[in-house]
Amino acid sequence: MKKKIKVLISACLLGDNVKYSGGNNLTPELVTLLEKYNVNIVKVCPECFAGLPIPRLPSEIKEGKVYSKDGRDITEEFLDGAEKTYEVVERKQADFAILKERSPSCGSSYIYDGSFSGKVIEGQGFTTRKLNEENIIVFSEENLEEIEKYLQELSK
Ligand code: SF4
Repeated sequence: MKKKIKVLISACLLGDNVKYSGGNNLTPELVTLLEKYNVNIVKVCPECFAGLPIPRLPSEIKEGKVYSKDGRDITEEFLDGAEKTYEVVERKQADFAILKERSPSCGSSYIYDGSFSGKVIEGQGFTTRKLNEENIIVFSEENLEEIEKYLQELSK
């Protein structure tokens, strides 16, 4: 029997209330796609793995470091969250990842610019960068067509 596809997914995208505000980013179209391909889900939240509380102040990346909105440098926590998420990929042998766009941990194409003004720039979150360095493919929930193509490839 063919092995089930295993995908690492940001927990907030599946409806877990782990984001900084205490809410979630449930993306029903993503859930439907994962069900269609009978995917084995590995849920992660790098910021939770790092021991950051829920709710917590929003944080953004500026000049390679992460700051919470009160100006505290929380780069170490984000590095820790990235490392622990990678350990989960390794342990669970996930095929690829789908992480929340624009997050300072999970963003894969865009992040906020560090000014806490809502401005978005090109860039990656700390966890995505770590996974990419380890040759793990990371998609965002905004690329469902690409994700489906990749799932089709893996299902062959
Ligand atoms: Fe979602 Fe990632 Fe932020 Fe956790 S760290 S709340 S999984 S975007």
